[in-house]
Amino acid sequence: MSDATGPVTRAVVALGSNLGARDELLRDAVAALDAVAGVTVVSASTPVSSVALTPEGPDETRPEYLNAVALVETSLDPIALLDALQSIESDHGRTRNVRWGDRTLDLDLVAFGDLELETERLTLPHPRAAERAFVLEPWSEIDEEARLGSLGRVTDLIAALPDRTHPVPGATRLHDGRRASSAPAVRDEGATA
Ligand code: ATP
Ligand code: MG
Ligand code: MG
Repeated sequence: MSDATGPVTRAVVALGSNLGARDELLRDAVAALDAVAGVTVVSASTPVSSVALTPEGPDETRPEYLNAVALVETSLDPIALLDALQSIESDHGRTRNVRWGDRTLDLDLVAFGDLELETERLTLPHPRAAERAFVLEPWSEIDEEARLGSLGRVTDLIAALPDRTHPVPGATRLHDGRRASSAPAVRDEGATA
């Protein structure tokens, strides 16, 4: 939950899981993100599925991924937000043995406002986001006007991609974009009970 200190930046977080109770892991991750001091989840997409990507290319013998994107507002700096993402990953059983290996939870920082950054720990925008349908498609679901830095509109980037994600039957948004604590109570004047 965000506090009132410091400038607030809109950031984009990509979530992925291909091990364990994937939908539950993504939902728990969104709740954990919203619980971080200085972070408020504004909205989070419906999960989509995609074939696992390995360094050798897509691999249908690996467990399928569920992916989603969350928009957050944060008063944290980008490294502090990355620290929070990595600590949520660890809390949900994430291990790093093999590059692009199977994982319970991956939380990547796709964008932090318009910031461009290249350090040992953090590159912004995420250097591979533009080529990933599993990032761009769920992002455009919750922000039709989204832009990926100097690379332009997310919808245009999607149109240029060779692959697509798959819808998940019965899946629902991880966060509906309304704050439970601040949403006005619904009044139905015609209700009798
Ligand atoms: P990919 O980044 O291609 O999606 P991955 O998510 O599997 O791969 P990780 O093992 O989660 O990679 O992260 C490896 C390192 O990437 C992290 O330790 C982190 O410091 C660094 N990193 C650099 N830029 C970013 C970013 N924008 N978001 C998340 N991690 C980043
Ligand atoms: Mg990743
Ligand atoms: Mg990662």
